[in-house]
Formats: sequence, structure tokens, C-alpha cells
Amino acid sequence: METTQSNKIVYSALKPTGDLQLGNYIGALKNMIRLQDEYRCIYTVADMHSITVDNVPADLRRRTYDFMALFLAIGLDPEKSVLFVQSHVPQHAELAWVLNCYTQFGEASRMTQFKDKSLKHPENINLGLFAYPTLMAADILLYQTDYVPIGKDQKQHLELARDVAQRFNSKYSPTFVIPDGIFPKQGAKISNLLDPTAKMGKTDDNAGGVVFLLDDADTIMRKFKRAVTDCDHDIVFREDKPGISNLLTIYSVFNGTTIEEAEKEFAGASYADFKLKVGECVVEYLKPIQEKYDYYMKNKDYLEDIMKKGADTARYLANKTLSKVYRKVGFVQPK
Ligand code: AMP
Repeated sequence: METTQSNKIVYSALKPTGDLQLGNYIGALKNMIRLQDEYRCIYTVADMHSITVDNVPADLRRRTYDFMALFLAIGLDPEKSVLFVQSHVPQHAELAWVLNCYTQFGEASRMTQFKDKSLKHPENINLGLFAYPTLMAADILLYQTDYVPIGKDQKQHLELARDVAQRFNSKYSPTFVIPDGIFPKQGAKISNLLDPTAKMGKTDDNAGGVVFLLDDADTIMRKFKRAVTDCDHDIVFREDKPGISNLLTIYSVFNGTTIEEAEKEFAGASYADFKLKVGECVVEYLKPIQEKYDYYMKNKDYLEDIMKKGADTARYLANKTLSKVYRKVGFVQPK
């Protein structure tokens, strides 16, 4: 890994359960790209998290390549950052087991994502889904992470990781760095275009309101044209205008302007014109990313090479923490 200006560690992961969408880009990926020049960054395709919900193995396999290709296409640079696939580094599962034993049933039960997913999939409330946050804590804590760029929806999981790390540190001695979240200034929560009160998610039932990074131009335009607004006419960012505010956020991120500048630009415009402009700006922004993605997907050997090199480095780093943890909890370590 190249030494950058700071030795602080940044860690983030995305799970290949569904295709990457605008919320992922604005909430997490954009910060991940920016942070590469300042910190030592470690970024993961979190395939082990994906099997906590029902999934088709062939889709998971395809998406693992997809995500790695998209990581590169958006500008994550394997010369600057460690890019790897979670299941290639067994220390994640090993530390997660230890952390399970230092996490209370009650605190894991309070996780809202677990409650939401249990309601959504009552037929598959498995132990992995329940223990998802301790696997996530292991992901982060293994690398002595200082900062975690994430969207607002992951805040509660990060809090749990901090609590468990603090508990372990005070029971034994300082072992883990306590990580802080980095949330985007704009767009910590991007909403579904058809239901602006709900988070845009990779596996939403309301898929017509989710814009995927690999959607073609016509699909993107169609989704924006149908975006839910309200019955008034003002294009302003306000709590009681979730649809318009969401569109203004998306526009300002992809156009590189502030919300105030976007409001000025669209003062007096019709909702239809506004939605068209937002769609066009997203199409323009994603075009070069999609072209690069196509290029990388045609070079699977290269992707595998990146995965392998990243996993080698990650295993080396992860092992340092894991052996410390094993020693502290009393596991005998053969020489
Ligand atoms: P996930 O899709 O759960 O794998 O999340 C990957 C990353 O994207 C996490 O850091 C999430 O916080 C972020 N993220 C996912 N959906 C959104 C959204 N609608 N708005 C903002 N951030 C999001």
C-alpha cells in the first residue's frame, strides 16, 4: 500500500446484494474516492454480508465482479487503496465470532435494520442476519480503522462497533482503535424517487424509484420523469418537500453545485423541466463510469489480479489484529 499524507485508516464496504444505486454513490462511494488521497484506505466487496438474505449464488458471483469493476470505474485506485473481497480474508469471520461473545443479545436486538429486514423476510430470520452488525464491527476493527465513510442508515451499526470495541478495550487493554463515521455533507440519505419518505435501496420493492449506476440513459430518464414531487410549484429544499429536496440533492451532487445554487438555477422552472435536467445531469455523469465499467468487465483476469493482491495485503493487516485479540482472550497460539 502506498504511503499517503496521513497514516489514519479508512475502511468501508458495500454488499453485493443488489446492483449499486445512486444512494450508494452519494452516501458512501463519493467519499471513498475523495478519501483515497488523504488516508490509507481499505475497501471491500462484502459478499459474506450478502448471504444474510436469500440470494442466488450466480447473481452473487456476477455482482462480486461487477462491484470490483465499478470500484475501479468510479476511480478507486488499487495503487492507493486496498481493494478486496471479504470472503477472501477469513479473519473477518474469525474476529466476528469473538465479537459475538462480547455483544449482548439485547443490544443486537435493538438494531433497526435487523427489525426491518425481519419484517420484510419473516420466512428467513437467520442467525447471520442477527449477527450482521458484529461481522460489520469485525470488518472495521480488524484494520484499526479511524474513519468509516457511510450513509446515515449505517450509523447505528457503527455505534455498536464502537461500543463493542470500547468494551473489549476496557476488559483487556487497548486493542482496537475506536472508529468515527464520515457522513456526506449532502445526501447522507437519498430517497426512493417514487417514495421520497423511504431510503433508496439496492433491493427495494419500489425498483422504479431506484436509479442504478448501470441503468442505461433511457431508463434513467424514465425514472426521473416519473419521480414523485408535490402539488406546489417551488423548487426549494424544505423538510415538507421530500421529493423536491431529494432531487435537488441529487442534482447538486452530480452537477457539483450547492443546493442554494441549484435552487437559484431552477427558480421559476416547471417540475417537469427540473426533473428532465436532473435526469440529464445524472446520465452525463454516469456515462464515462459505465464505459470504464464495460472495459473492466471484459478484463476479468485483471479484476481477479486486483482481488488477489488486495486480499494478500488485507490478510497481512488483519492478522496483526486477530492474533492480538486471540492472545488477549486466552487462545493458545502455536509458534
Ligand atoms: P448497502 O447498500 O447497505 O451495502 O450500503 C452501502 C453503503 O451505501 C453504506 O455506507 C450505506 O450507508 C450507503 N447507502 C445505501 N443506500 C443509501 C441511500 N439511499 N442514501 C445514502 N447512503 C446510502
